[in-house]
Amino acid sequence: MPVYHSALKSSMIFSALCLFSALTGYAHASEEQEKVFNLTGISEGIYVHQGKHVDLDHPDHDDIANIGFIIGDECIAVIDTGGSVATGLALKKAIKSKSSLPVCYVINTHIHFDHVLGNIAFKEFAPEFVGHENLVEEMEQNRSFFLSEFAAELGENPSEASIIGPDITVADTLDLDLGNRVITLRAHPPGHTYTDLSIYDHKTGTLWLSDLLFIERIPVFDASLKGWLKTMETLKTQQANHVIPGHGTITLPWPDAANAQDSYLNMLLRETRKEIGKGTFMEEVIEIVGKTEKTEWLLHEQNHGRNVSRAFLELEWE
Ligand SMILES: [Zn+2]
Repeated sequence: MPVYHSALKSSMIFSALCLFSALTGYAHASEEQEKVFNLTGISEGIYVHQGKHVDLDHPDHDDIANIGFIIGDECIAVIDTGGSVATGLALKKAIKSKSSLPVCYVINTHIHFDHVLGNIAFKEFAPEFVGHENLVEEMEQNRSFFLSEFAAELGENPSEASIIGPDITVADTLDLDLGNRVITLRAHPPGHTYTDLSIYDHKTGTLWLSDLLFIERIPVFDASLKGWLKTMETLKTQQANHVIPGHGTITLPWPDAANAQDSYLNMLLRETRKEIGKGTFMEEVIEIVGKTEKTEWLLHEQNHGRNVSRAFLELEWE
């Protein structure tokens, strides 16, 4: 478990990422007037911007994720950069309003566009970009997709250099020292994505889960339903004073914060398995699973069917 100190490095790998499907036809997000950028101090030296609960066809779709930063004595770690250069620049401006220290690390918690497309906004600091060991390849694989589908989010004259992947990768755990403040990054097996990373701040007992935890907005996944549930069982044994989810209310007690997501994901697993066992075709399973329960998840209509189909494909041969 090597400890990286705040050595600055100028090399950057450019790349992008994505995830959600059906990204066609949404409006350009660039309202000319400056958007109000909320920022909340949730613990000593930890600030979080709460993203909006809007869908991908909404003009603010580049600002849907919770992103933020942790300030040490020597430098700052940014955790996720938003779904556009504009959102990344807004976060950078917010950082400068709180501290004059440099950003030494930009940590991407996973491949999804709403967490990484703002990376280039931080290039003036020449930070180390940090991510899961699978993130390098995933960024490369998604480069063309990001450039074609998210050109409007990548600023003027987007190019391959607009999309930045990690310089430092995490295979298991990695400690980063921000100056009298060590944070531990942990790489997880396939779950929400193939590139899931959590961060633990030892000073305040804050567990930054990003999209391993959805609050209010319906959970979605690309990699493995069973893997995600298993990861959450492991994480729930970790002591933490509070957690920061990737979407929704920005600070919550742990592990109770996981209850609603656990209930939904376990329902997906249980009911999809049951229908597969009965020989029900996937098209019908999508119509059946979860339909007897009243849901309070936001954007359920847009995402639930996709979750069932992914669960079906994962579970049909087990
Ligand atoms: Zn995500």
